[in-house]
Amino acid sequence: MSRIRHCVECPKCLTRYLISFSPYSNGAYLRPAVNASSDEYILYCSCGRGVGVSRWRASEVMACKVSNAAFKRGFGTSVEIRPVPKARESWSFDASQYLNDWKSPDRRKGTS
Ligand SMILES: [Zn+2]
Repeated sequence: MSRIRHCVECPKCLTRYLISFSPYSNGAYLRPAVNASSDEYILYCSCGRGVGVSRWRASEVMACKVSNAAFKRGFGTSVEIRPVPKARESWSFDASQYLNDWKSPDRRKGTS
C-alpha cells in the first residue's frame, strides 16, 4: 500500500519530505517563507548547516507516491517516495494522436 502526498526534495542530499509532517525526526523542518506570499516554503534539511536550505513555491511541490515506511517517518529516499506524473500529460498525448488522424492525406482531396 502507498498513498499520494505533497513532497519537497532537498537539492543536496535528495531526501524527500512530506510537507505536512514538519518538523521531521532527523532534525529537518519546513516553514513558510518569511515576508513572502503564503505559497512559498523554505526547507531546512539536516544534511548541512545553512547549506541544505531550499525554497519552494506551492506550484513546484511534487505529488508523490509514499511507501508506508516513509509515511511513518515523514520523509524518505527517492526509492520510497516517487513523483506521480500529472494526469493532464496523458490527455494532451491522446489529443495529438486524434489530430494526426484529421490531417491524413485522404481528407485533403477536395481542395482546389
Ligand atoms: Zn539535505
